[in-house]
Amino acid sequence: MPRYSLLDIYKLLPGTNCKACGLDNCMAFASALLNRKKKPQDCKPLFEDERYKEKREKLLDIILPAVKEIIVNGLKIGGEEVLYRHELTFYNPTAIFIDVDDEMNPDDLVLKVKRINNFKIFRVGQDLKLQGIALRCKSNDAIKFGEALINIIEHSNLPIMLCSFNPEIIKIGAETCGDRKFIIYAADASNYKEMVEIAKKYEAPLVVYADTIEDLSLLTQKVMEHGFEDIILDVGTYPEGDGLRKTIENMIKIRRAAIDDRFKPLRFPILANPSVVWLYEKDYIQACLKESYLASLLMLCYADIMILHSIETFELLPILVLRQNIYTDPRVPVQVKPGVYKIGNPNEYSPVLVTTNFALTYYTVANDVENKVDCYILVLNTEGLAVLPALAGNKLTADLVKEHIEEYKLDKYVKHRYLIIPGLAARLSGEIEEKTGWKVIVGPMDSSKIPEFIEKEWKKLNLQ
Ligand code: SF4
Repeated sequence: MPRYSLLDIYKLLPGTNCKACGLDNCMAFASALLNRKKKPQDCKPLFEDERYKEKREKLLDIILPAVKEIIVNGLKIGGEEVLYRHELTFYNPTAIFIDVDDEMNPDDLVLKVKRINNFKIFRVGQDLKLQGIALRCKSNDAIKFGEALINIIEHSNLPIMLCSFNPEIIKIGAETCGDRKFIIYAADASNYKEMVEIAKKYEAPLVVYADTIEDLSLLTQKVMEHGFEDIILDVGTYPEGDGLRKTIENMIKIRRAAIDDRFKPLRFPILANPSVVWLYEKDYIQACLKESYLASLLMLCYADIMILHSIETFELLPILVLRQNIYTDPRVPVQVKPGVYKIGNPNEYSPVLVTTNFALTYYTVANDVENKVDCYILVLNTEGLAVLPALAGNKLTADLVKEHIEEYKLDKYVKHRYLIIPGLAARLSGEIEEKTGWKVIVGPMDSSKIPEFIEKEWKKLNLQ
């Protein structure tokens, strides 16, 4: 659980309700801080008035997430507060970077970069995408590395990770990037001083690598002593046997040390590298499948950022769907916007289906009718509840239907005055007719039966 409550935060605010933060009072600000809608610095009196110094320091101490949030090109990595999503929520979905290398044929490299850039799967109202490109220096040749990097910069706006343990290569990469922000992979015990200097100069997050937790903690402490804290942790990824067990144990121990013990050297995002599968497995399909399950497994073990190699949809689909599910905020049902949605090419005599704005309900209905029925769907704002819970909680009512018909001007879309409501909401039919003046047809209990229902019942109306 988070270490502090709303009241703990409130007690550390000035308590004057001056509204300088743009909210009505300090309690509203405390709630906004708890939900990360405001930053402590948004309370100006707290930071400008020295009387509040002690409160300010205490607030900053408790409010900072257990795992530092690293931001690169707008991409947020880490920032987590709990071990289990149900205790609060997970904030920043695992960032997925796909690797390319500087020994690839330039045409192949550009093709892969474009595919990474444009990759998108639409599911339950969201576009599932990839977050970045990791450029590996295989050649150890700064010129080749720079040329490959220029190709990436020209063909993608995604954040870039520069991968080499050679500080000279990273320096060339950093200069080539110009204004583009990037992540450096990686500092180890032998190169960390030079890497920290480059990271400081370019304000680039730095991955710190060691293959035991003890060595990793010592190294991050040294990096912090050099005045740098935008750190990402890598304790090594091993895809098989005892190495895999060690990888999982290490990642869980790191996250527990950060959240349960607030152990400063490990309070950073964790990087996992499932692409190592390709070093062990030479069969293409097997490598894709192994990379897919390793990435899924490590996402469940708190990987905040991952490097993958494959761009195959069949491999990425399960990873991205898992990520979408893990990083859904359990406090907020997944919703679509209320309003009138067109399915196919409806006209003024087409049916109007009524449903709720719980995303799963809407997309189930939409998928069941798509390519089968041209119609409109009137989506009601039931605060993200499905039909039955919305009815039980009095969120789906005849008044709500009336409000939405008026607000979204349903009468501009169709000439008829018929609504098809879900079979589960049959008990509202009389009241809806009374309040709206529209005739109600009670639809099937199961939305998969809608096309058949419309074919039979809608045609009887003989509207066109
Ligand atoms: S600016 Fe600070 S003191 Fe003023 S209302 Fe907001 S939280 Fe309270």
